[in-house]
Parts: sequence; C-alpha cells; structure tokens
Amino acid sequence: MSHRDQIGREFLHTPGPTQLPERVLAAMHHQPYDLADPRFLELAASCHDDLKPVFGTTADVIAYAANGHGGWEAALANLCAPGELVLVPECGHFSRHWAEQARMLGLEVTGPVAANWRRAVDPAMVEAALRADSDRRIKAVLIVHTDTATGCTSDLEAIRAAIDRAGHPALYVVDAIASLGAVPFEMDQWGIDVAIAASQKALMGPPGLAFNAVAPRALAAADANPRRRYYWDWRRRMAQEMYLRFCGTTPEHLVFGLREALDIIAETGLDAIFGRHRRVAGAVEAAAKTWAEAGAIEINATEPAERAVTVTTILHEPGSPAAAMRDFARARLGVALGGGFGDLAGKVFRIGHMGWVNEPMILGCLGAVEAGFIELGVPHGPGGVRRAAEYLAATAPPQPHSRDMRLETVRR
Ligand SMILES: *Cc1c(COP(=O)(O)O)cnc(C)c1O
Repeated sequence: MSHRDQIGREFLHTPGPTQLPERVLAAMHHQPYDLADPRFLELAASCHDDLKPVFGTTADVIAYAANGHGGWEAALANLCAPGELVLVPECGHFSRHWAEQARMLGLEVTGPVAANWRRAVDPAMVEAALRADSDRRIKAVLIVHTDTATGCTSDLEAIRAAIDRAGHPALYVVDAIASLGAVPFEMDQWGIDVAIAASQKALMGPPGLAFNAVAPRALAAADANPRRRYYWDWRRRMAQEMYLRFCGTTPEHLVFGLREALDIIAETGLDAIFGRHRRVAGAVEAAAKTWAEAGAIEINATEPAERAVTVTTILHEPGSPAAAMRDFARARLGVALGGGFGDLAGKVFRIGHMGWVNEPMILGCLGAVEAGFIELGVPHGPGGVRRAAEYLAATAPPQPHSRDMRLETVRR
C-alpha cells in the first residue's frame, strides 16, 4: 500500500459506485435485525415510501437485492413475454446493453442506432419509429435517461410528447439509474410507466439495491403478461411481509444505508441537491472547455444542453497519452475516474460528479486531472482548474432547506 492509503482521502469519482456519506457508512455499522422486528419493518417500509417523492410518483416502488442490470431485467421480465417487440433507441453503451439483455430474454428489439455516441436520444426518431409501427406491435419504449458512458442526458418530457404525437400505446420505461436524485424527475407528470434506479449512483447509497417504480398501467401489463417469473415478480414484491417484499432475506445493511441517505436527501432538500449537481457539473464543464482549447481532448457530449450533470466524458484520440489518465490518477494521486465502454473504449475517460460531491471535492478531482495532463504530456489549454474556481466564485451555492416538504413522509 502506498502512503495514500494512510494519509488523506482517496477520491472516488467514478460514475457509480460513488462516495458514501460518513453518516451512511456509520448507519450500516449495526447488527442485523430479526426480519420480523417491528423496528426493522418500519425502517424498510419508510424507505419504500420515501423513494416515491424522489421518483415524483405516488406509485409503488419495488426494491431488489440487485444492481442496475437486475433492475432492468426486473422491468423486462414483468412487462414482456418472449416474442414481444420493444423499441430501444441506441445512442450509448447502456442502451446497447439493455437491448442485448432484452434479446437474451427472448424479446425482439427495434430502434434507430445513433451514428455516434455523442448525443442524447432524438425524440423525432422515437416518433418516426412509433409511427412506422402501424400494427402497434411495439410493447414498450426503453429509454436510458443519462447514458453514463457518453455523458448525455435525454429529454424525457420531449420523448413523452413524441410518443403521444405518434398516438402509440407503448409503455414508457426509463432507466434513471444515473440521474435519479441528481435532476428533477417527475414520473407521474411525464407519463413514465416504469422507472428504474439503483442505490449506488446519485442516491448516495451502497451498491446492491435496484428499484422499479411501477405505475398502474405497467402493473396491468404485468398482470396480463404470461411470462413465467419468480424472483423479479412485482406482485410477489408488493406483499406486506418483508420476506416477500425482498423475495427472501432483506439485504438489511443496504437498507440501513439507504435510510440514512434518504434522511440526508430530506434534510438537504431535492431542489438544493439538484442545484448542487448543476453547480458542480458547471465547474467540470468550465475546466474541460478550457483544457479542450489545445485540441487534444473534447467534451464527448457535443450538445451543451444535453450534457449530464452527473458525469462528464472526456474524448481523446485512440493512442493519445490521455488514455493513461485513469491509471495515472488512481495510482499516483488516489483519484478514481471512469474508463470507456464499447465504442468509446480507449477513447475516453470519465469524471463522475454525482451524489456525495461538493465544490472542494470536485476542485480536487479536476486538479488531479490537470496534473495528469501535465505529467502525461497531453496538450491542454492552461488554467482549467482556475476557470472552474472562477465559475464557482461567480455562481451562488444553492440554499439548503431545513426540510424538503416533498419528502414529508420521512419518519425520523
Ligand atoms: C450504472 C448504470 C447501469 C448499470 O448499473 P449496475 O448497477 O452497474 O448494474 C445501467 N444504466 C445506467 C444509466 C447506469 O449508469
């Protein structure tokens, strides 16, 4: 182990898992309860309830001992039988892989494939694909809200409007894994039938819990779905008994951690949290635009309005010395960055900035990246960190609330 392991903090700036608040770590330091202990039943039930306002829904939120991929599979297994057709616009690693999962579950997949992985989903393409489906075979439209690989966020309201314009009855299923808890998300208002999330991204929880928020229309589709399923079954999970809600033993420590994270969200207020994400993302963008001035790197998301507030993907030529950034930052400075997937492998590194991140943390991370450019000999516009600091100096921090009224169901 290097000296970094003893003195000072390591920085986890991957786009999942993310840093855990000390309070969340401490909350997990607890013996398990008997699964029928009323204290635990109360705690777990409160988590299900308090996730609802974060999703912007009054619908049920179902939790799984699973990662995000499990959350995807849960939604597909409940909604679709083998042979049914889903529309998955592909514009990044996560939409490609969700489509692959759908195929492996016996579904047919259609959808436009983006020319490159630098833009969000084009609502017009969704509309065109649905209009072309004249016999209305498409059962569901699957949209990845923020593609964590490309750093692009799609406009969920615009996609809802596109589905409506096409007059198509398809279910609207959204992967909000890398956006929920970082940006406004209004499941009910936006007519989303299923929203999928995971604990370890902006929600500030430990890895291992996946969520499906399920609107009544989706539940009805699940009831009519003849596919056999057991572990993922929504109906089984809607039982009142905790053993059934988790289809077996509850991953209690993850629930303890989630409870604490939801308390932090309630105490801070969602609007303040969203504002903090915009501000931290603005600092990253200011630095990255400055570094890009030398022509060796760029922000992968070409359209500024589509840039995610949770992750920034930095594009470079294959074979650029910037390809060593991730290893350099981890080994030399104790800063963990993300790498590239699929079509972007070897061409990007990624800076995660979601969840438990504030301004000095992101300045530290950006400083490490700038040190990497210097050490690795990557041409970069000078003063990126300075521009990030200027951005932060010029914009006001969001005001924390004493209590977020949208989260009034919080019990402690
Ligand atoms: C992280 C992520 C996933 C996969 O989640 P896992 O917990 O790693 O299985 C899926 N979709 C998006 C948008 C993600 O960011």
